[in-house]
Amino acid sequence: MTADPNAIAFVYRELARLGLNNGSSGNVSQRSGAGMLITPSGTTAETVTPAGLVQVTLDGQAQSPGTPSSEAPMHAAIYAAYPQAGAIVHTHADYCTALACLGEDLPPFHYMVVGFGGGDVRCAPYTTFGTPALAESAVAALQGRSACLLANHGMICHGRDPATALSASLRLETLARQYLLARSAGSPRLLTPTQIEAARERYKTYGSPARG
Ligand code: 13P
Ligand code: ZN
Repeated sequence: MTADPNAIAFVYRELARLGLNNGSSGNVSQRSGAGMLITPSGTTAETVTPAGLVQVTLDGQAQSPGTPSSEAPMHAAIYAAYPQAGAIVHTHADYCTALACLGEDLPPFHYMVVGFGGGDVRCAPYTTFGTPALAESAVAALQGRSACLLANHGMICHGRDPATALSASLRLETLARQYLLARSAGSPRLLTPTQIEAARERYKTYGSPARG
């Protein structure tokens, strides 16, 4: 797989423009050959450049100049565990982070939750940022899902390419906001397993010309 440095840098800047990241929080990568191309540690929307991205092997060896993101181990572990992951977005977006600070999963309060692979989006237990333990915890929470929350930290998601991962991160932030809004007004009614299954079936053809 060939990475697109322009797309990675663009997505990193978009995250700031959309209000999903601030300053140097969050990071973006794309699978690249046997490794990945990832944003450098401490970069911001103002400083990120396609040429400044760092090529890293999945066992953590930087193969180009620069210091890779401190979350390179988490990105690498996700690429290693999930072959369908082509790009990864990690954010500290407000509503995802607020829910993650409650240590709660995003439950099946809205049918669009199934867009992440199942009836919920799990919250991985807290561990220190940038550690192999966080990588392990995220990989476990992503089982059967394309996104998870990271307790007391933020969220991470994968998609086939940087644009897909960006739109997934925006969708999850919207759902987290809607869930917390509903929670602040009352007790959201959760969908039943049957309703979730029906939504999952419907989702398989959503957006395709064949949909009925
Ligand atoms: P980096 O600047 O090293 O990518 O770290 C930001 C971050 O979100 C750590 O979790
Ligand atoms: Zn982070």
